[in-house]
Amino acid sequence: MTQNIFNLKRFNTLGLNAYCRNLEIIEKERDVKTLIKDSKNKFIILGEGSNVILDAPIESPFKVPVFINKLKGITVQKNPNQRVIVRCGAGENWNEFVLWTLKNKYRGLECLAGIPGSVGAAPIQNIGAYGSEVCDVIESVHAYDVNRNLAVNISNKDCAFGYRTSVFKNQTSRSSLSNFVILSVEFSLSADWKNFKTPDYASVKNILPSNPTGFEIAEAVQNIRKKKLPDLTAFPNVGSFFINPVIDNARAERLRSKFSNIPIMTFNGYFKLSAAWLIESCGFRGAKFKNVGMHLKHALVLVNYRDSSSEDILLFAEKVKASVKEKFDVNLKIEPVILSSSEKS
Ligand SMILES: Cc1cc2nc3c(=O)[nH]c(=O)nc-3n(C[C@H](O)[C@H](O)[C@H](O)COP(=O)(O)OP(=O)(O)OC[C@H]3O[C@@H](n4cnc5c(N)ncnc54)[C@H](O)[C@@H]3O)c2cc1C
Repeated sequence: MTQNIFNLKRFNTLGLNAYCRNLEIIEKERDVKTLIKDSKNKFIILGEGSNVILDAPIESPFKVPVFINKLKGITVQKNPNQRVIVRCGAGENWNEFVLWTLKNKYRGLECLAGIPGSVGAAPIQNIGAYGSEVCDVIESVHAYDVNRNLAVNISNKDCAFGYRTSVFKNQTSRSSLSNFVILSVEFSLSADWKNFKTPDYASVKNILPSNPTGFEIAEAVQNIRKKKLPDLTAFPNVGSFFINPVIDNARAERLRSKFSNIPIMTFNGYFKLSAAWLIESCGFRGAKFKNVGMHLKHALVLVNYRDSSSEDILLFAEKVKASVKEKFDVNLKIEPVILSSSEKS
C-alpha cells in the first residue's frame, strides 16, 4: 500500500524539509471540530510557519495531522465611544490586516506593521516591535478548546500575556501538540485618527515628521525592518532566534561591573539585555557552521543558507547558547516553537 507523504518546506519560513502523512488546509470554522475529532485530539496547527522549527525528517515524519489555518474574514463588531471592535479570522495575513486597519482609519497596530505570519498566531507569543505589543489592543481570542471540546472566548486577561509569551505559547512549548485552535481574534482599536504616538526609537523618530499619521509610522517601521533584516526570500529565517533575556537588578549590576559597555534597558521593573549584542560579542555575527549561521546584517537572525536539517540548526543554536553562557553567564532562550516528530505523537 502506498502512503502519502507531504513536505512542509513551503509552510515554514526557515525552509526546512519536514514531513507529515496528513496535511489539511482549514478554510471553514465548521470543519475544525470534525478535523480535531478525526485526529483524536492530536494534531499540529500552523499559520504561516514564521515562528517554528519543524523537526520531522523524512525517516521520522509527523504521525499526527498538520493543519494549516486559512480561516479568513474581517468584521467590525461595534463602535462604542471612539473604540472599534474588529474581529479578524486567524488565517488572515498579519501585515495585510494591519494595512486594512489603517486604510479604515483605525489606530493601534501601526508599529506592528511588517511582522510576518498570520493573525491567529499573533497572540501566541504576543508579537511586539518598536515599543508596541499586540496584547495592548487584543480584546479577546476566539478559540476551539481541544480538551473541553468546545469553542471558547478567552478575554485579554485570561490570555496571560507577557513578554513574547501567553497562555497559548506556554502550552505549545511543552509539546508539539496543540490544546487550542485559535479561530479569530478581536481587537479593540481607536477610531480617533489623530495623536499618533511616535515610537520612542531613534531610528524611527529620525525619519518621521512631527505629528505623523498611522501610514507614515507603518511605512517608517517597514522600511527600517527591510534595511535591518535579511531578505526572507533569499535567506530563510524565523526573525529573532533568541528572546532578549530579562534579568533582575543584582544580575544587571554584576554584568555592568564586568562589561562596562553592555547595553541594558529598563523593562517593567526588570532589566532587558540585547541578545544580538551578546551573540555578536561572542563572535557569532556572520559565523557559519555547515549551512547554518547568524546573519552578518543582524546577529540575532539565524539563517538556513541551504537545505540544513533541523538537527544542524539546533546544534548551531546550542553552540551560540553555550558561548553566551560561558562569557556572560546568561541563558539564552530560543524564541520559535520547536515542533518535533519524536515527541509524544
Ligand atoms: C523575518 C521575521 C521577522 C519577525 N519579526 C518579529 C517581530 O518583530 N516581533 C515578533 O513578535 N515576532 C516576529 N517574528 C516572528 C513571527 O512573525 C511571529 O511569531 C508570528 O506571529 C508567527 O505567525 P505564524 O502564522 O507564522 O505562526 P506559525 O509559525 O505558523 O506558528 C507559531 C506557533 O503558533 C501556533 N499556531 C499558529 N497558528 C495557530 C492557531 N490558529 N491556533 C493555535 N495555534 C497556532 C503553532 O502551532 C506554533 O506553535 C518574525 C519572524 C520573521 C520570519
